[in-house]
Amino acid sequence: MNAHLANQLGHCKTLPTLPAIAIKIIELANDPDINLDDMCKYIMLDPALSAKILKMANSPLYKSRRSASNIRQAISILGTHTVIVIALSFSLTNTFIRNPVKNNTVIDNTQFWRRAIASALACRTLGEKLGLQFLDDLFLAGLLQDIGILAYMAIAPEEYGPVYTSTNDHDTLLMNERQSLGSGHDEVGYALLKQWHIPDHIALSCIASHYQPGSHQSISTPNLYSCTTVSRYLAEYFLTPHKPENLSNLIRYARTWLDINSETLLEVFNSITDRLSSMEDLFEITFNSSSEIAQILDEAKELLALQTVTKVKELEEKTQHDGLTGAMNRNFFDEKIQCEFHLSIQHHLPLTIVMIDIDHFKKINDTYGHIAGDNILTSFSQVIVKQIREGDFFCRYGGEEFVLILPGTPLAAARTITHRLKDTITARALKTDDGTEIRITASFGVASCLKDKHHHFGTPIDLIKAADSALLVAKKAGRNCIVEWNQR
Ligand code: GH3
Ligand code: MG
Ligand code: MG
Repeated sequence: MNAHLANQLGHCKTLPTLPAIAIKIIELANDPDINLDDMCKYIMLDPALSAKILKMANSPLYKSRRSASNIRQAISILGTHTVIVIALSFSLTNTFIRNPVKNNTVIDNTQFWRRAIASALACRTLGEKLGLQFLDDLFLAGLLQDIGILAYMAIAPEEYGPVYTSTNDHDTLLMNERQSLGSGHDEVGYALLKQWHIPDHIALSCIASHYQPGSHQSISTPNLYSCTTVSRYLAEYFLTPHKPENLSNLIRYARTWLDINSETLLEVFNSITDRLSSMEDLFEITFNSSSEIAQILDEAKELLALQTVTKVKELEEKTQHDGLTGAMNRNFFDEKIQCEFHLSIQHHLPLTIVMIDIDHFKKINDTYGHIAGDNILTSFSQVIVKQIREGDFFCRYGGEEFVLILPGTPLAAARTITHRLKDTITARALKTDDGTEIRITASFGVASCLKDKHHHFGTPIDLIKAADSALLVAKKAGRNCIVEWNQR
């Protein structure tokens, strides 16, 4: 993390201060020779916390045959480590729920904690299914993995606000943070937990839970970190089940990180569902209604039973493709360009985009009618898609404007592709559904990120604007031509 952010974090007045009891509990957590009497004494100083610990000890999460009626019994049933971790989970969550970060107008504090608690439960449940030990550490790691988001908001509200609202997707958020502010909330979270003296293996989960599969091949057997990673996608699915990509992400990552198949995933779903209400009760927070939960479970069952990936892929494609032309839709483009732009900056990879606008399209509508116009948009897209490589993305930007994303493609190669596209379009007439043949032309604006090893643009928007301005020049130059953006 950069020194400036670290300094701000160290002197931050807008983060809630930890209550004395939490500080004491963290001390105990770092103490190899915990004294049972000390522990009872400190916990009992906080009657609300004591009550929570008892409730937790007697909840379905800890299926003990004996029930605890006081803290000392709870400790002897659960063990000191478990009680410390439970106490810490409550104490931190409670502090933040009661004292939302000041100056924060963009993060919904309740929703944040709802997600954190769902992740915590998901993380623990995954660990349990996989036969891991230290289930309480899993709970705490799941709970705190995104604490950096709140910390970021507290230390730099003005800069962080727009970045936070720039996307709904967690992975994209991380990339945008790194790109705009230099560090992701993973690093900020880690720094905060270190500042609080939270044991290192828990603090590290902030960072490790944000690895992308493939980037750190060393993680292959399920552990604290891989469970934390998957827990995020599980929580996301439980909280927003209506986005099909949430389920496909979950299935994909559960497989990649934990080698979990659909059957096990379904068992995990069931366990989480059984425990949600006791979590609601303990943390005084509500999740989805019980009918929604039942629906989520039914849907998940159905999809998982259908050997999932293909089915989910279809659903996902529907939400990523434009309904008329079959090109990728605008939403997809907006997310993809962020991601590719970031990769291009980070790894110094070429990236070119081509804005394409059909010439005099209004005339086509006026002459042949809108249905024919629609058909032409579709056949135009089909012609283009046939000409591009698998890793390229052809998206409908809006109306009769399209945009090509060509990752890893330098200007010279993009030039060849664009000329081929232009020639193909000019050479052949497109057919409408009733067989009418219509000839069209299009104008192209090309912009490339890297030229002479120099990266030209600060943000994806700058790149889009450059391609757009080149397109405008092409239109002014008489249409049916290609213009490359040039830094003047
Ligand atoms: P130019 O060469 O300057 O691009 O001229 P143009 O007529 O193509 O551009 P203009 O932006 O003036 O008009 C775009 C037209 O595209 C107007 C709009 O009705 C039409 N259009 C946009 N979306 C659709 C669609 O989904 N179906 C049909 N049939 N027409 C569309
Ligand atoms: Mg046009
Ligand atoms: Mg237009």
